[in-house]
Amino acid sequence: MSSPSRHILTAPAWPYANGPRHIGHVSGFALPADMFSRYQRMAGNQVLMVSGTDEHGTPIQVQADKEGVTARALADRYNRVIAEDLLGLGMSYDLFTRSTTGNHYAIVQELFKGLYDNGYIFPKTTMGAISPSTGRTLPDRYIEGTCPICGYDGARGDQCDNCGNQLDPIELINPVSRINGETPKFVETEHFMLDLPAFTEVLGRYLRGKQGQWRPNVLKFALNLLGDMQPRAISRDLDWGVPIPLDGWRDNAAKKLYVWFDAVVGYFSASVEWARRSGDPEAWRAWWQDPEALSYYFMGKDNIVFHAEIWPAMLLGYNGQGDRGGQPGSLGGLNVPTEVVSSEFLTMEGKKFSSSRQVVIYVKDFLDRYDVDALRYYVAVAGPENQDTDFTWSEFVRRNNDELVAAWGNLVNRSVNMAAKNYGAIPEAGDLTDADRALMHRSQKAFGAVGAELERSRFKNAITEALDVVRDANKYLSDQAPWKLKDDPDRVQSILHTALQVVDDAKSLLTPFLPNSSQKVYELLGGEGEWSGMPRLEIVSEEGGPDYPILTGDYATAARWESTPIKPGVPLAKPTPLFTKLDPSVADDELARLEQP
Ligand SMILES: [Zn+2]
Repeated sequence: MSSPSRHILTAPAWPYANGPRHIGHVSGFALPADMFSRYQRMAGNQVLMVSGTDEHGTPIQVQADKEGVTARALADRYNRVIAEDLLGLGMSYDLFTRSTTGNHYAIVQELFKGLYDNGYIFPKTTMGAISPSTGRTLPDRYIEGTCPICGYDGARGDQCDNCGNQLDPIELINPVSRINGETPKFVETEHFMLDLPAFTEVLGRYLRGKQGQWRPNVLKFALNLLGDMQPRAISRDLDWGVPIPLDGWRDNAAKKLYVWFDAVVGYFSASVEWARRSGDPEAWRAWWQDPEALSYYFMGKDNIVFHAEIWPAMLLGYNGQGDRGGQPGSLGGLNVPTEVVSSEFLTMEGKKFSSSRQVVIYVKDFLDRYDVDALRYYVAVAGPENQDTDFTWSEFVRRNNDELVAAWGNLVNRSVNMAAKNYGAIPEAGDLTDADRALMHRSQKAFGAVGAELERSRFKNAITEALDVVRDANKYLSDQAPWKLKDDPDRVQSILHTALQVVDDAKSLLTPFLPNSSQKVYELLGGEGEWSGMPRLEIVSEEGGPDYPILTGDYATAARWESTPIKPGVPLAKPTPLFTKLDPSVADDELARLEQP
């Protein structure tokens, strides 16, 4: 019946290390990836979930300049903050690392060389800025002017923060140096380009093969990109980044690989780092080279272009599978993504999240005030899975109280409480009635239905199905009313046994979404040790480098995706509430916080 164990790579997008994460961020890349991974592990598959902080590029350098610290110091600070945010959310990474490791540099350079040797990277003479007074190269971030696309007058040489478009300094209207206000001089300079048009055909075949598998919005967006593939610059006039691994370039302090080029390689470099830390340096190959292995990339929709177009093109080029042919690089051919699972955007109280405008709730603040499972529940049931979605505090409070507390928490509480009071242990079942059997059958069957939805990252359907089992069990208890059957103790025993079995099943069905409260239910019913594993933060180092924090964990725990018979006789104690009921004033308090200057 069950399919053999598969190797599944879960690749949540790399958060950019320029500040703490807010709940809009983590509803896209993080929590869906964790729900998917926890389910796949329970179903018996070999999951590798890897990611890290993305730490290069102009925005980090600009912010560091502003604060008078080094880019590295700024990246160190937010790498740690973000790792702690993700730890608090229970993100079950096998490895959460960072893009400033020596391992990452080496793997990025290997990908570059493979692409270069196969002819998919070529140099191009473009116009670069120099300072007329010193004759030195002016990094992109030090040039400011008017955006040629939207007219914003504070655009930087590499990007307009108003419209989000990537720019070249020479495109700016009225460019000036931010160092001394002079007008930069543009002279011929060389950069490297990725030859994306050489992948139009092979990417088209790849994407058309995903019809009916990927979310329609994602596939439509990716297919549209194919209509206008242009070579894309992969180096910049910037000193903060991965060096270009060619003679004459390696030591050039003023030119580095563009941050997007190194960031997408992170999924692969983190897999290699994980393998080395696991004690088997070749272990990554099972996820990247076995043709049967599957890979799922999770992100917000602003990242589709990098994951559905550019990263597959880079992998195909490294493999020698674009128009120019070629040979696989020295590590061998690498698998392209099985699916790009992109979410839409989450807004908050009708507005775009904005740290500068205080329209924000950071993960840390959220977790200081509310249960992590309440957030995970909200994202699963009401997140931006298929359309832009608004987070409101009143809806958060309503769902917490009506669904988590009143439905699931109440089912656990009243069934365990009654059994604890009457027997002090899980009771034996006597003769079962049709109603008992129907409910047990219902919850057993749900493993197939909920699992099928989770396989396809349909979290909203999946958690709704799981909650339906809970609602049916509550209705069953109300219909059977064991509290009215004092003269029929055998019948009471059978009802409570049935209810506890379904509580145990529902706990398993809800584990991918609610791992913390599922652990509590597991222990209530006599389970020992870890049910679904939790990440831990460790401090590690690599040869010759500084210490840094990683997230990792041991996820080979008890949780299984199946109904397990409960054991009569296991002692039961009066339960404490699973979730905290929130006063409706919480919504007003949070809105008042948003309106503070
Ligand atoms: Zn603009």
